[in-house]
Amino acid sequence: MSDARSYELFINGKWRAGGSRASLPVVNPATEKVFASVASATVSDLDGALASAERSRKAWSSRAAKDRGEILLAAAKILATKIEAAARDLSAEQGKTVAEAIGEYARAVETLEWNGRHAEELSAQIPLGPNRMIVPEALGVVAAFTPWNYPAVLIARKLGPALAAGCPVILKGAEETPSVAVHIIESLCQAGVPDGVVSLVFGVPVHISRHLLSSSIVKILTFTGSTAVGKQLATLAANNLQRCILELGGHSPVIVCEDADLAKAIPAISEYKFECAGQSCNAPSRILVARSLYEEFLSRMTDAARKIRIGLPDDPATDMGPMANARRIEAMQRLTRDAVERGARIETGGTRLDRPGFYWPPTILSGVPKQARVLHEEPFGPILTVAPFDTLDGAIEEANATEYGLAAYFFTEAADTQRKLTNSLSAGAVSVNYLKGVSADAPYGGIKQSGYGYEGGEQGVRSFQILKMVNGLSS
Ligand code: NAD
Repeated sequence: MSDARSYELFINGKWRAGGSRASLPVVNPATEKVFASVASATVSDLDGALASAERSRKAWSSRAAKDRGEILLAAAKILATKIEAAARDLSAEQGKTVAEAIGEYARAVETLEWNGRHAEELSAQIPLGPNRMIVPEALGVVAAFTPWNYPAVLIARKLGPALAAGCPVILKGAEETPSVAVHIIESLCQAGVPDGVVSLVFGVPVHISRHLLSSSIVKILTFTGSTAVGKQLATLAANNLQRCILELGGHSPVIVCEDADLAKAIPAISEYKFECAGQSCNAPSRILVARSLYEEFLSRMTDAARKIRIGLPDDPATDMGPMANARRIEAMQRLTRDAVERGARIETGGTRLDRPGFYWPPTILSGVPKQARVLHEEPFGPILTVAPFDTLDGAIEEANATEYGLAAYFFTEAADTQRKLTNSLSAGAVSVNYLKGVSADAPYGGIKQSGYGYEGGEQGVRSFQILKMVNGLSS
């Protein structure tokens, strides 16, 4: 078992310190103090994980899919019993409120359950007619890289379907939030996942990804993180032609049409935007408002942002905690400064809070010139830009004017406008009159520079399978 404050690697069914005994600090973003450490893997640790994954591969993939599903269901049950304590650990490591962390763990449990319930059905042969069928098979060992913003859900969205499909997984958890990977791996092992089928490593990300992806044992790369890192990993994966599932950045627009109900739109945008201090790949970041509503929207949205209560993540009165790390604060400063220098106006927020911790307040910028970086680079923080539009076509053009294509949102009751926007917005997911993220039962994935491949639902499991086409079998 990993000690609560000194997190270890999990290789071949055993918890252990890294071979070099080196460790990395874990910082509480609300205090900026180091309060835990996480082991750092050596090349020999990684080789151990690769060898044990390869050794376990045949037995796991040929085990009845029903058994694999039952193990996932049991793991979900075990994880559900730990949610309160695990959520407090996550909140201390990441900065999200305890309530947000509890909600996130509940979604991770749901994700493991969904994949457990569907493992058998999604591993079954698919008949195509007389003597023809598709036989789904596990593709092989997975290297999974998960980030710190939604560590529980994102681990569950990779491990749940990979294990359901029959693939062993080597998980590199986020070094910033190690407790989450540890709680989930412990639940899986207590539920009966055999030795070698899941391994957990932490360390220097670039060293780990380079080593794992250079191995021909690894057949699939699944990564959630920035577009820049996703491209580096896809380049490495190209050498071995490893299948890639890349969930990358986003810069999501919200179009508020002139018939929109602001009493519905503003709380929905505010709640979704400022969850996890805006560090979500599908958080809205650019709001385009019909000119007739613009002044009223801006004033009411600014009020809503000012009402967000900022504080310690374990205080039940807190709506929004700190950002996860100093890098995010630097990014907020850089993007705000650039926008203001180009002529944008700060409606609220705009400067780091003068208190310990990585606190950046909800920030609304108006009058942002088109060249400003905040309109093109993923903000990944609590910054929103608000701009008026005159025609729907103009709004669509603006909405689609970034290199990202993850999520898009709009508010209108008119059915023809809803259809036009749904068809015209370049995004992997569109939500109408509310804001919604990923769910266990549906595929979710980006287009353009937001990545490729899907997580979630049937497609999430298929991502880890070979669909073997079989013709001519005697009946
Ligand atoms: P980053 O790109 O350095 O790291 C993001 C994640 O990728 C981290 O978990 C990190 O450990 C991992 N990573 C980084 N380099 C890696 C490598 N060479 N091999 C394997 N994994 C690697 O950025 P950051 O400062 O930690 O996070 C900020 C940026 O990351 C944001 O701007 C955002 O675009 C992106 N991000 C996106 C998501 C998402 O849900 N799509 C989640 C977290 C971070």
